[in-house]
Amino acid sequence: MTLPCGTCDRCLAGITANCRTVRKAGHEAWDFDWQLSGGYAQHVLLPRGMAIAIVADALTDALAAPAACATATVMAVVERAPRMAGRRVVVVGAGMLGLTAVAAAAAAGAASVTAVDPAADRRELAGQFGATDVQPTMPDTGPFDVLLEFSGSSGALQEGLRTLDVQGVAVLAGAVLPGAPVALEPEAVVRRHLSVAGVHNYEPRHLTAALGFLEETRERFPWQDLVGEPLPLESIGSLLTEPPGTKPRYAIAAP
Ligand SMILES: [Zn+2]
Repeated sequence: MTLPCGTCDRCLAGITANCRTVRKAGHEAWDFDWQLSGGYAQHVLLPRGMAIAIVADALTDALAAPAACATATVMAVVERAPRMAGRRVVVVGAGMLGLTAVAAAAAAGAASVTAVDPAADRRELAGQFGATDVQPTMPDTGPFDVLLEFSGSSGALQEGLRTLDVQGVAVLAGAVLPGAPVALEPEAVVRRHLSVAGVHNYEPRHLTAALGFLEETRERFPWQDLVGEPLPLESIGSLLTEPPGTKPRYAIAAP
């Protein structure tokens, strides 16, 4: 969750995720003025102005834990790709965010949901989260109406943009580090009425939506399989260097 200033031009425009002095819980350096900013600690300091959301009793810790990161970000992505019902959706990258996006597309009533990931175990998980087709690389089985990008792979995005049909929408969220440029054919954008959007961070309403989505779909999708059994805080070092398996997320239980 972000901590916006609340007074800059972006905050006043309602784009607090891109506040000019934005800070993020769990993302700040220890030698900063917000030391207990979250993550790998028994306590978190919530400064004034930080949005919070109340977790329903029906949601277990394992289900709720990814809400403030993966699930809320996907809710923000989905908001930029309206009208998924009845449309052909392709999700590139089937990690925690991609799997959540697959579930969101399926729950929204997409006509088809194709998940693309080179890892076989992730493709298998994607099937459990509502994917109607899984592929190791971008397939030529398109066209697609909606492309949701979580891999950060310029190559996959390049191929994906070519598969978009008329009125196609691509929402990019995976490229959080500099990557190779992608060629965009202006004529294709014009003639096919394409839209390309990007999402980074999210607004408080997306966290609320994330918890609601997890609660609504907790019987339909095996969310609990995405988070490992909680380990003690003392295990954090080995957990970071040698994850004990291939779960998309691991959990730490504070004593
Ligand atoms: Zn601000």
